[in-house]
Amino acid sequence: MNYNKKSVEDIDVTGKRVLCRCDFNVPIKGGVITSDKRIVAALPTIQYLVKQGAKVILCSHMGKPKGEYKPELSLKVVADRLSELLGQTVIMAADVAGKDAQAKAAALENGQVMLLENTRFEKGETKNDPELSRKLASLADIFVNDAFGTAHRAHSSTAGVADYLPAVCGYLIQKEIGIMGKALADPERPFVAILGGAKVSDKLNVINNLLEKVDTLIIGGGMAYTFLAAKGYAVGKSLLDTEKIDYCKEMMAKAEAKGVKLLLPVDTVVAASFPDPIDGPIDVKTVAADAIPADMEGLDIGEESRKLFAEAAKSAKTVVWNGPMGVFENPILAKGTIAVAEALAESSAVTIVGGGDSAAACEQLGFADKITHISTGGGASLEFLEGLELPGIACLQDK
Ligand code: AMP
Repeated sequence: MNYNKKSVEDIDVTGKRVLCRCDFNVPIKGGVITSDKRIVAALPTIQYLVKQGAKVILCSHMGKPKGEYKPELSLKVVADRLSELLGQTVIMAADVAGKDAQAKAAALENGQVMLLENTRFEKGETKNDPELSRKLASLADIFVNDAFGTAHRAHSSTAGVADYLPAVCGYLIQKEIGIMGKALADPERPFVAILGGAKVSDKLNVINNLLEKVDTLIIGGGMAYTFLAAKGYAVGKSLLDTEKIDYCKEMMAKAEAKGVKLLLPVDTVVAASFPDPIDGPIDVKTVAADAIPADMEGLDIGEESRKLFAEAAKSAKTVVWNGPMGVFENPILAKGTIAVAEALAESSAVTIVGGGDSAAACEQLGFADKITHISTGGGASLEFLEGLELPGIACLQDK
C-alpha cells in the first residue's frame, strides 16, 4: 500500500465545502460524554479547515444504531462539546444526508462548521451503498478522511464517498500512516515487535507479516502459551489454542529461517484459576515456562521475562507493541504489561503502540507522552500491521 497520501495542506480548501470524516465515536453515559479525547484529537484538522475559510461539514458514526435513528446515539452531544472546544457554534443537522443536511450545507458560510447526524443511522453506511455515498458527496466539493479508527472499513462515509470527490487525509491519519508506514516500510533497526493479548488466532496474519519485517518478535500474553505448547512444554490450564499449535511451529521455523529472534516468556505467573471478579484478590506464584503445573493457569509473564522483553525494547531503534502481556485488568497480573509500557517509555527508539488495551495501559500509567505514537485505531492498526490495504486510506489521492 502507498502511504504517501495527499493531506489537507495539498489541496485548496478555501471557500470549498469540505466533508470531513472524523472519529467522534466517544463513550457516553446517561447522555453525557465521559471522555472527549477523540473530539480533542480531531481539532487540528478542523481548526485548519476553519482557518483556511472552508465550509466545514463534519461526519462520524457513534455506536451501533444498525441503520435506525436512535436518539441516545445522536451526535448532538458531540456538536455541543465541539462548539465549546472550537469557540464557535457547530450547526447540527437533523439527518445524515437528507433534506436538513442539504439545506444546512448549502447555507454554510466560509469558516462555519456543521455536523451531520450519526452516519450509521443510514442503513447504507456499513454496506458502502453507492446511493448514500453519492448523497454524502453531493453535500461537498472535497472529502477529507481523518478517522483512522474506521479506516479498515469500507463504508460510505469512510471510503465510498471518495468515488465521487477528490479525497485527502487530515492530520490524524497523516500521522498514523507517516509513523506506522515508515516503521513497516523502512524501519530504523533493530526493529522489535511485541505482541500480546488473549488469542493467537486473532493475530495469525500479524505474526506472519511482522516476521517479514522485524529483527526480533516478542510474544507474551495469553497467546504465548500456544507457542510454548508448540515447543513441547506442558501449559497446564493456560489459554491454549490446540488447532494453532502447528501454525506456531511453522512461525517458529519461519523465524529461524529468516534469522528473526523469536522471544517467548521464560517464566510465567500462575494461579489456580482465572480471577473472579477479574480484578479481585488472587494467589499467584512464578514458575519457569517449562514447569507450569498441570492444575495451574498462566496469567502474566514472570520477572525474568519482563527483564528479557524490556532489554530487547530498550536496545531497539523501532518498537511496535500491540496487546497486553497478561490479565492486566488485575493489578497483581498487570506487572508484565506495566514493565513493557515502562520499557517503551524509557526507550529512545521510535515507539508505536497499536490501539486498544496497550494504548489504555500506557495512558493509565501516565506514559502516553513518552511514546512516539499511540495509534487511535485498535482494529485498524492491527490490519495495518498485517500489511493489509485499508479502504479508508487506499481511497485517498497519492502525493
Ligand atoms: P486481546 O483482546 O486479544 O488484545 O486480548 C486482551 C485480553 O487478553 C485482556 O482482557 C487480557 O486480560 C487477556 N489476557 C492477556 N493475557 C492473558 C492470559 N495469560 N490468560 C488469559 N487472558 C489473558
